[in-house]
This record gives sequence, C-alpha cells and structure tokens, in this order.
Amino acid sequence: AQKQGLNNYHFYSANLNSSLQERLALENELYHALDRDEFLLHYQPQVSLHSGRIIGVETLLRWQNPARGLVSPAKFIPIAEETGLIVPIGEWVLRTACTQSLAWQAQGFSALKIAVNLSARQFKQQNLVETVTQVLNATGLDPHYLELELTESLMIDNIQQSINIMRQLHNMGIVLSVDDFGTGYSSLNYLKRFPIHTLKIDQSFVHDLVVDSDDAAIVDAIISLAHSLNLNVIAEGVESQEQLNYLQNKGCDEIQGYYFSRPLPANTLTQLLEEGKTL
Ligand code: C2E
Ligand code: CA
Ligand code: CA
Ligand code: CA
Repeated sequence: AQKQGLNNYHFYSANLNSSLQERLALENELYHALDRDEFLLHYQPQVSLHSGRIIGVETLLRWQNPARGLVSPAKFIPIAEETGLIVPIGEWVLRTACTQSLAWQAQGFSALKIAVNLSARQFKQQNLVETVTQVLNATGLDPHYLELELTESLMIDNIQQSINIMRQLHNMGIVLSVDDFGTGYSSLNYLKRFPIHTLKIDQSFVHDLVVDSDDAAIVDAIISLAHSLNLNVIAEGVESQEQLNYLQNKGCDEIQGYYFSRPLPANTLTQLLEEGKTL
C-alpha cells in the first residue's frame, strides 16, 4: 500500500492546474534550450518607401523544440523575461545577428541595417552597454549598422536611467528605435529627450487602417509626429497593397510586413537580397 505522503502527492499532482503544469514544463525546457542549440533566427525585411529597396532586417527569435516543434515567441518570451533567461538568450540573439549582418556585408549588401529586439529585463541589466560593446568587438560589426528596438514602457520605467543608457548606446553609433509605438504610455513629453532615430507604428493600427478611420487618424498622427521631431517612421504588419498605398501617400518612410515578406531564415533572405527584390 502507498504511504500517506505519496497519496497526498498524487492528489495534489492530479489537481495541479494543467496550465501551471504546462508552464513549468515549458520553463524547464527553456532552461536547456540554449545548451541544446534549439534557437534560431528569422529575419524580416524592412523596405524603404522612397527607394522600394530592402534597407534593413528585423531579427526575430524562434524556438525549435524537438517535441513541441516551433514555439511562438509570444509563448516563450514572457517566460524567458520572468525567469531572466532572456538575458543569456538575448545575448545569443545579438551575437548571432551581428555575425549574420557581417556575413551579408561581406557578400556585398553593405548598407543593410540589422534590428534586434531588446527586452525590459535586458535593458535593466547593469552591464548592458558592456555586453553590447563586447559583442560588437567580438564580431567586428560597425555599430552604425546595429539598430536596437525598445518599447515605450521599458523606456519610461526609469526615465533618467533610460536616457543615460540610451545616450551611451547612441554615442557608440548604435541606432535606437521605439517598437510598438502608440500602444504603451503616451511618452510624447519625453520623446524628444530620448536619442531615438525611428518610431515603429504598432501593427494593431496598421491592421484596420483602410477600414477604421480612428486607426487611420492615429497612423497619420504618428507619421506627422515622427517627422516634426525629425524621426524616421516605419509601419509594421503591412499585409496589403491598400495599406501600403495609404502609408506611401502619408509619407511613411519604411514598411515591414507579410505584404513584402514574412520573416525568413538567413539563407532565404540572402536569396531575396541577391535577386534585388523591390516593392
Ligand atoms: P515585435 O517586435 O513587434 O515583432 C513583430 C511581430 O510581427 C513578429 O512576430 C512578426 O513575425 C510579426 N509580423 C511581421 N509582419 C507581420 C504581418 O504582416 N502581419 C502579422 N500579423 N504579423 C506580422 P513574432 O516573430 O511572432 O514575434 C513576436 C514578438 O516576440 C515580437 O514582437 C517581439 O516583441 C518578441 N521577440 C521576437 N524576437 C525577439 C528577440 O530576439 N528578443 C526579444 N526580447 N523579443 C523578441
Ligand atoms: Ca520589434
Ligand atoms: Ca513591434
Ligand atoms: Ca509586439
């Protein structure tokens, strides 16, 4: 017969919230994912509306787990954030992206920017600037080709500290952009104090642009705001010709989205660059 303790355990275990169990399993596997080499990067083109050409790529992390298949970042990035795993994972992303960027330059695609997402947890690391410097030195990438994407909420959590860190990155020659612009706190007051180069219009506004006049008004306002502050503006999540036309008419500088290309593995993106694909 089983002992009391074990019965209690079985009882507890059987009643454990299944989503909690799932979460613990995911967390456990995430702990080993770097060592097991399960991460890979996809790259999505950013296209100039002035020249029609690919002028940058955004690096998007993918987790290829043997049992689960391809796990969506929406599912594992929040866990990586909470556990702090995003710090070593993020460093791997940065190093791999910088190395890839250098390879593209060696192949003659010399003006291509590479954008990397930075999470709140990474941004708050004491040694962020040091880490970025080390990666740039180790890979040999010119910092002017590196763009770091930050979110509004991350920036205004501790404004003075954020400005300090952003100034250091900016002074190194790194380009900074605000991701998901319009969805976070309205930081219009602070916008001019941050050394920012680009606003990225969140895809939720782009999605219904053509059918929802409120979203269209928000997009118009962000483009005007960006340009009056001398910032570059890029719309993400562009899926249709109608959205593209609208954005082009309003003077948006760049687009990114399935309309031009989904995020792609490096070698497929290389093919697009070789073909010289334009809008
Ligand atoms: P994000 O930075 O806003 O990235 C844009 C997301 O929109 C990507 O989702 C991209 O695949 C998707 N997307 C691009 N074009 C379209 C389109 O036309 N239509 C639609 N519906 N979606 C489009 P993904 O790759 O699933 O990444 C989700 C989020 O995960 C990212 O949102 C970012 O916040 C986070 N993430 C991804 N990679 C990294 C990373 O390396 N580090 C960190 N810290 N976060 C990352
Ligand atoms: Ca992003
Ligand atoms: Ca975004
Ligand atoms: Ca997002």
